[in-house]
Amino acid sequence: MIVTVTMNPSIDISYPLASLNVDTVNRTDQVSKTAGGKGLNVTRVIHDLKGDVLATGVLGGYHGAFIADELKHAGIKQKFTDIKEESRDSIAVLHEGNQTEILEAGPTVSYEEQQNFLENFKELIKKAKIVTISGSLAKGLPSNFYQTLVQLTEEQSAKVLVDTSGESLHQVLAGKQKPFLIKPNLEELSTLLRHSFSIDRLEEVQEELIQPIFAGIEWIIVSLGKAGALAKHKDCFYRVTLPTIKAVNPVGSGDATVAGFAYGLSQEMDEIELLKFCMATGMANAQEGQTGHVSPVNIQSHIEKITVKKIE
Ligand code: ADP
Repeated sequence: MIVTVTMNPSIDISYPLASLNVDTVNRTDQVSKTAGGKGLNVTRVIHDLKGDVLATGVLGGYHGAFIADELKHAGIKQKFTDIKEESRDSIAVLHEGNQTEILEAGPTVSYEEQQNFLENFKELIKKAKIVTISGSLAKGLPSNFYQTLVQLTEEQSAKVLVDTSGESLHQVLAGKQKPFLIKPNLEELSTLLRHSFSIDRLEEVQEELIQPIFAGIEWIIVSLGKAGALAKHKDCFYRVTLPTIKAVNPVGSGDATVAGFAYGLSQEMDEIELLKFCMATGMANAQEGQTGHVSPVNIQSHIEKITVKKIE
């Protein structure tokens, strides 16, 4: 089983508007409300791939109930810990080709709720082969919280894939136990290492990835959007390039990549198969209007056209 962790889920609300008028009323009869947060995107994509997945994290209030209901209707297994404060809304207004977002920070998780979650998590990982941890932490959780989850997972000999950024990622890397995979994009890597990287100078990225801070992480996939990825597996580097596709909505493609990797790992794919599969899953997400959804047929057709070149 693959367990996905979402510590700050949201209801993602999107309002498509012909134009956004500031300081006056904007009306719309088109609204979409879905269970969101990076971890839930990962969950849905694994479910689309027919993987055995269970979603966990924290949920609170009416918003939490809405998210739980959405997952239930989709037939996705879940075991969240209840919290007192309300789960958040994330609002995206789509107007004139722009996307204006209003993101709530979300609820504060109390110490007691944190302990309840950890008890729940310890039970779940007894049955998990793979755990994915994605996105930001809710307020109240310590910045090394993901490191705690990595440690608990490794103790159970399950593989843990981490896709987070900023201080949470920094703390994960500083810990004694290392995740099996991290998947920063170039911007997240630049923030982490306080150095601006460019897609035209990937050899600089390569040099950074052999620094001690990354030691012990079996897989590092630096995703590059439509340009594919630079991947490191153990001591080998690979450049993955993709065929051109018509992207409809690339939001959540990184989450789909993590989902594809988790699924591929559960199917015991070899390293080249894994790389092609996870990249193709990211691409398939970019082809869908809805964030965190893929069509498996698209994945298969991309795989044949993706190239993986070992960098000597
Ligand atoms: P993130 O969403 O974390 O920023 P990326 O934008 O790098 O991640 O996307 C992750 C993967 O999804 C890419 O490596 C690629 O396989 C696929 N992808 C994303 N955007 C596109 C696109 N416009 N065209 C084709 N594939 C894409």
